[in-house]
Amino acid sequence: MDVDIIRKQPAGQRVQPHLLDYEAACAHFSWDEARRALDGLPGDLGLNIAHEAVDRHADGARAERHALRWRGRQGEALDLSYAQLRELTSRFANALAGLGVAAGDPVFVLSGRIPALYVAVLGALKHRCVVTPLFAAFGPQPIATRMQLGQARVLVTTASLYRRKVQALRGQLPALRHVLLVPDEPGELPPDTLDWNALLASAPTRYAIGATDAQSPALLHFTSGTTGTPKGALHVHQAVVAHQATARYALDLHDGDVFWCTADPGWVTGTSYGIVAPLVLGLTLLVDEADFEAQRWYELLERERVSVWYTAPTAVRMMMKGGIQAARARRFESLRFIASVGEPLNPQAVRWGLEAFGLPIHDNWWQTETGGIMIANFAALDIRPGSMGRPLPGITAAIVRRHEDGSVAVLDAPDAEGELALRRGWPSMFRAYLHEEARYARCFAGDWYLSGDLARRDADGYFWFVGRADDMIKSSGHLIGPFEVESALMEHPAVHEAGVIGKPEPTIGELVKAFVALKPGFEASEALRRELLGFARTRLGAAVAPKEIEFSPGLPRTRSGKILRRLLKARELGLPEGDLSTLEPP
Ligand code: ATP
Ligand code: MG
Repeated sequence: MDVDIIRKQPAGQRVQPHLLDYEAACAHFSWDEARRALDGLPGDLGLNIAHEAVDRHADGARAERHALRWRGRQGEALDLSYAQLRELTSRFANALAGLGVAAGDPVFVLSGRIPALYVAVLGALKHRCVVTPLFAAFGPQPIATRMQLGQARVLVTTASLYRRKVQALRGQLPALRHVLLVPDEPGELPPDTLDWNALLASAPTRYAIGATDAQSPALLHFTSGTTGTPKGALHVHQAVVAHQATARYALDLHDGDVFWCTADPGWVTGTSYGIVAPLVLGLTLLVDEADFEAQRWYELLERERVSVWYTAPTAVRMMMKGGIQAARARRFESLRFIASVGEPLNPQAVRWGLEAFGLPIHDNWWQTETGGIMIANFAALDIRPGSMGRPLPGITAAIVRRHEDGSVAVLDAPDAEGELALRRGWPSMFRAYLHEEARYARCFAGDWYLSGDLARRDADGYFWFVGRADDMIKSSGHLIGPFEVESALMEHPAVHEAGVIGKPEPTIGELVKAFVALKPGFEASEALRRELLGFARTRLGAAVAPKEIEFSPGLPRTRSGKILRRLLKARELGLPEGDLSTLEPP
């Protein structure tokens, strides 16, 4: 694959000045110093995420600044200042106290992106509960399973979601004491529930956050379930140190920005960067209630004067599919920085950003387990399309190989392929997989956290995603990462997206098979299939190129937007489909 480079001209940009010299920034960075950029609770009572995100801004110069700019599905709008957000979250924290809910109790929030979701998450953090935002589109069973696993004591949801998804399963949730409903439909609330509005209205407006140990649990997040059953990753209050520092570095956030993170808080991105980080930095956070729709998104970017935009490859690919004209018809005058996470960002998509927005798209890499961005294409650094970028200051990343005895060897040679590992000890590192101690222990070897992703690092220190360890294909003695094959196919004008798997084959081990979804205006045909096979062979060579291509109207993906290769494979081989709780319905 061509390694073309998108050159940056740092002088003309609003990059964090201390990042202009990346090597120096890394050399001088310390997490202790990053911690000192935060306030801590008054009276030395520790570190609490909600204090850093809300209360500390609510008295000073930012009191009247919009913390949340909410845009509803039907065109409704609500803007909340930091002062207003403090009051609402304090009311909720007081309401929890009034119900006898204690610090450490698990609080689940199940709702679309409505203002109450943000109030509930931050208010529960104030009261030092352990918060889990759940994706509202989950079906009843995935909701119940996660609530059982997390022993939810409190649930905040809407009346309609409760009626459709939780009420019938309440018998399976013995730990659940309090259900708070945001009334969103006419009629009485169901029995054994409380009215969110009434509860907040009668609660006191001031709440003094109690002593919070920075190491105490704050957020429980389930992984996307791309490779199997989702795991519950537990994070502590100290994670906020990383949220703050990584957002400044990797997302180039500055005072005065309007920031839009398109991820739902049901996924870690939607909490770390869709709630916490921008508020900790005292910015204005745009929240859109609606689902992806290209025209709506272009309009929001333009009208709301978004300056920094954090999205995902699947959305970028959908916009690409709709054609460049829709983007060109708009003026994104305020937009300064675009970043993407969740899946590999194909080089094609990085470059499309330049055409559509006049800005490249900056890929970055992290996981539910890491709690925050670990590797990124920075504002000041040249971009290598297809690369995840370089480790953040404070983060040591390496390529390692695991030995049989559990130890690991660091592979220093440029371009050596191996497992992507991080030196443990950054503040937002997960502290447990809930109820799965052995699985948690297996993620570590000595000083290293092992990510389960394969990657390589080039001679200049850029990291390149190769594939998930589970998705790697072994064909005629080669180890092939699906991303490389998918990206090559996507260079063809007819291809909207591709998912590549290994299919067992007796002589070569596994055969590379690609599932391809076409752009509008292209018809699946034998001629096109052969053209794509040839196209891929020219780019990748015969050993790596797919031997089989199957056209598919769309690819199965998780609700967080990741291609579910394990499902493509299971279907291809007629095997059980496994955990599908996070599958996005076609
Ligand atoms: P599960 O662990 O349940 O299988 P998951 O790994 O998809 O699901 P997440 O924690 O949401 O759950 O996703 C993290 C994973 O997403 C990473 O390990 C990596 O495989 C992939 N990923 C995230 N960002 C990138 C990126 N920029 N490039 C390539 N892959 C990425
Ligand atoms: Mg994972």
